[in-house]
Amino acid sequence: MIKKVNFSRLKHENFSIIPIPLEDEILSSWIVRTAYAHKTHPHTFTNQYLNYRPHAFFLTESDITLDENMIKTIEDKSLHKIDVHSLMLKTYSGFLQENIYENNPTIFFTHQKYCPLCLREDTIPYFRKKWRVVFYNICHKHQCRLYEHCPTCKNELDISKMYDNKLLYTHCHHCGFELKKGRKLPIHKKYISSLDYQNKIFKIIQDGYILLGKTPIYSFLFFEVFSKLSKLILLNAKHQFINKHPLFLLIKDVKQQKVNHPIFKKIDAKAQSALFGLTMYIFEDFPHNLKSYVLTNKLTYHDLTTKMPYVPFWYEKAVNGITPRYLPHSMTVTKEEVAHAMRYLRSINKDINKANLTKLLGCNFSSNDNNLQSYI
Ligand SMILES: [Zn+2]
Ligand SMILES: [Zn+2]
Repeated sequence: MIKKVNFSRLKHENFSIIPIPLEDEILSSWIVRTAYAHKTHPHTFTNQYLNYRPHAFFLTESDITLDENMIKTIEDKSLHKIDVHSLMLKTYSGFLQENIYENNPTIFFTHQKYCPLCLREDTIPYFRKKWRVVFYNICHKHQCRLYEHCPTCKNELDISKMYDNKLLYTHCHHCGFELKKGRKLPIHKKYISSLDYQNKIFKIIQDGYILLGKTPIYSFLFFEVFSKLSKLILLNAKHQFINKHPLFLLIKDVKQQKVNHPIFKKIDAKAQSALFGLTMYIFEDFPHNLKSYVLTNKLTYHDLTTKMPYVPFWYEKAVNGITPRYLPHSMTVTKEEVAHAMRYLRSINKDINKANLTKLLGCNFSSNDNNLQSYI
């Protein structure tokens, strides 16, 4: 194993071995495999061939935000046999989020999770892109839960590191545990619907839209609302209606971490899969379930839309149909009525000002929410 060496000429060399990316393989996994094919430690490899100082390549979220120059360098060095973009999580851009770069890139991605059974079956063990998507917590092939930490020492995985400078990426870098030996984490049949919901979510991601009623909604606009409802459930404890669903048991008393952003990281992967199922359930039989959820929790238009960076039109319309936007200072008088009120005030020698008009007409003339100010 080559480690901590410096052959400056490698900076200009192409890779001598170019492994073929495997089905749904993630970039960091492919780079790590390429490094080992060169009998070189991944950190040394990226340092030597890519001129990235040790660790930095993997620390800076190469799977999400690797810059175009580095992408080009890797493609050049692999003789253009590799499409680096296709190995990155940016392939989800436009599906999970409108633009993964402009928005917060980590909302819908987690650290590396894995399925031990997949690793056991792999001829060449490797790590999948979907294992980093927040919505993917159950291996659909093996119908078991993914591990989000090393099964033994509970540390997050870092496949670019080596345990004791000896063991490869198939082992936990921290304790040396061989990852594929993790026991299968079964799903109780009571909670099996979370797999159906996960499949539905992935269908939305794949199609790029969801049909709500008869209307197709872009997936990234749907996930925007999805996050909002997750907040109502987790932060505001709005549990009516969903508390009748079997999946609710998994989030009822779940321990919440002190992180509010991204919201999903408050709870572990098992509870997340239940949360996502319950949120999907709210959108079933649209808008019937949404209506039941809103009404039983006594949610207002404000509760349902506040603090959203952007309220999609379809959602605005649905919410407005259930709990209309209440405008306490709305425009309920006509221009003529205002003129009439002003004449009246003048006739009784009262000042024509906002306060007196408000008192007389019962509408707030000081509010910016209506156009009343322009009438004076
Ligand atoms: Zn699996
Ligand atoms: Zn470990």
